[in-house]
Amino acid sequence: MMIPQNRLDRGFLQYQAEFEEAALRVLRSGWYVNGAELDAFERAFAARMGAKECVGLGNGLDALWIAFRILGVGQGDEVLVAGNAYIACVMGVTINGATPVFVEPDEYYNIDPARIEAAITPRTKAILAVHLYGQACAMDAIMEIAARRGLTVVEDCAQSHGATFGGRTTGAFGAVGCFSFYPSKNLGAFGDGGAIVTDDPALAEKARMIRNYGSRKRYYNEVVGANSRLDEMQAALLSVRLKHFDEITAERETLAARYTAGIRNELVALPRVRPGATSVWHQYVVRAKERDALLTFLKERGIGTLIHYPVPPHLSEAYAYLGFHRGDFPVAERYADECLSLPMFSGMTEEEQRAVIDAVNAFTGGEV
Ligand SMILES: *Cc1c(COP(=O)(O)O)cnc(C)c1O
Repeated sequence: MMIPQNRLDRGFLQYQAEFEEAALRVLRSGWYVNGAELDAFERAFAARMGAKECVGLGNGLDALWIAFRILGVGQGDEVLVAGNAYIACVMGVTINGATPVFVEPDEYYNIDPARIEAAITPRTKAILAVHLYGQACAMDAIMEIAARRGLTVVEDCAQSHGATFGGRTTGAFGAVGCFSFYPSKNLGAFGDGGAIVTDDPALAEKARMIRNYGSRKRYYNEVVGANSRLDEMQAALLSVRLKHFDEITAERETLAARYTAGIRNELVALPRVRPGATSVWHQYVVRAKERDALLTFLKERGIGTLIHYPVPPHLSEAYAYLGFHRGDFPVAERYADECLSLPMFSGMTEEEQRAVIDAVNAFTGGEV
C-alpha cells in the first residue's frame, strides 16, 4: 500500500457535488473577482474566527506582509518570531524592511513564552505568534507580555484555522490574524488564497486599499499597494469547506488521536498538546534522533513523510545576510534535525493509518 504524506483528492471527493456546483455557479456568473462570493466568504469566515472583519487576499504571505504594513511595522523595527517557524513568517516581516528577532521554541514547537522578554529591545514593535502544526501558542503569556511592554501581536494562523487557547479562536487575540488557504492547509482552496481578520475596521479598510493597488476609489491610488485578490472561484469553493469545517477539523482530531494511541516506539517522540490550548492537527509531527533513518525506513514501506522544516530560517541562504550560524538557536536546530510529519489528510482511511502506525512501531533504528 502506497500512502503519500498528503492526498488532496480525498478532501475534494468528500464534498465533490458541492464543490462542483459552486465552481459552475462562478463560471456561469460572468463575475470572477471582487464580487458576491468574496463578500459572503469574508463575512462567514470573520464570524467563524470570532473577528469583526475579514479581508480576503491572494495568499498567506501577502496576509503577513500586509498585516505588518497596515500596523506600520517596517524599517528599523524588530519583530519577535519563533526560530523554527516557516520561512514565509520571516519573509512577511522582512518584505516591509523590519528585522526578525528569533526566539527559541518550547516543547510544543511554538515561541517559548519564557524566552520572549530577554529578546525585547527598544526597537521591538511586535510579536508574530505562529501557531505551528495547528497548535495554539501560549496566548495568555504572549498577550500579557505584549500589553506590559507595549508590543503589537500579529498571529500567523496559516496552520491553525479554528485552534483555540483558553476557549478563544486563534486569530482573535492579536491586532491582526493572518491566514493561508493554500490547498494543503486545514481550510484549503483549489489554488492560492489568504486572508486577514481583525476587529479594527480602520485596519481592515487599509488592507482593502493595499490589496487593490493602494486605491479606495478606482484609478485614484493613495499608496504603493499590491494586487492580492481572493478570487470568486476560490471564495466560493472555500465557502463550501467552511460550511463543513467542524467535520473537517473533527476528522483530523480523530486521525491524531489514533496515531497518539497507536504509536509506541521509544525512538519516536509524539506531539503533545499544551494545557489550555487545542490543536487542529495541521501536521502530526513526531521527533526521532535517527530521523533520517526513520524517513528512509518508512519510504521503503511506501509511506511518504515530509520535514517541516529541514532548515530553520536563521540558517537559510535567503537570510545569510542576518549573519547567524549553526549553534545560535540550538532548540530550533534540533527540531529541524529531528522532526518528521507523518501522513495526515482528510479522507485518510483507518487501514492506511494502521499501516503507518505498524511501520513506525517496527522501526528499531540504526542501519536500514
Ligand atoms: C503556508 C504558510 C504561510 C504562507 O502561506 P501561503 O499561502 O503559502 O503564502 C505562512 N505561514 C505559515 C505558518 C504557513 O504554514
